[in-house]
Amino acid sequence: MKFICIGRNYAEHAKELKNAVPAEPVIFFKPDTALLVGRQPFFYPAFSNDIHYECEILVKINRLGKNIQKKFAHRYYDEIGLGIDFTARDLQNELKTKGLPWEKAKGFDGSAVVGEFVSINSLKNKDNIEFQLLKNGVVVQSGYSKDMIFDIDSIIEYVSQFVTLKIGDIIFTGTPAGVGPVAVGDQLEGLLEGESNFSLSIK
Ligand code: ZN
Repeated sequence: MKFICIGRNYAEHAKELKNAVPAEPVIFFKPDTALLVGRQPFFYPAFSNDIHYECEILVKINRLGKNIQKKFAHRYYDEIGLGIDFTARDLQNELKTKGLPWEKAKGFDGSAVVGEFVSINSLKNKDNIEFQLLKNGVVVQSGYSKDMIFDIDSIIEYVSQFVTLKIGDIIFTGTPAGVGPVAVGDQLEGLLEGESNFSLSIK
């Protein structure tokens, strides 16, 4: 499986990192070795001094597809989850400055936290999914899916022009404003429509 990630998909977050709001989705990938299942600890890596959390809505692909039209995209997923796209911001800034790919800063082991998946039909408000990230019990990110610049179906249409989507692939749909650093000893918890979806400590 692969992780397909969307960057700069919330205007307020693009602004906080001083990036332009994109005209088409910004995409990058993480390898399967980036997976960190929701309640395991995250070990702070030696190669960075500025690991940031980015809490995001996740979409799990349940059908094989290529060149999917937006109007059919809803047939390719039926579960939504919550996760963290851990980012080595110091490495990413260095790579961006040099115009190099972000993989080292985004695809390292443990960088893709995946919480529990729930059926879309079980959500209270599937057209405007609410989610939060708590750091040490304090809300640091708060998002609504309607604030995405590119919605889930548009992302599927766009990405599937370039890469075949396979069963089990997971899309990270981008993060709202409020990203920030983590430190050893921090506790992160994600809430999807108010329910705990993942919880992990930084070690
Ligand atoms: Zn992200």
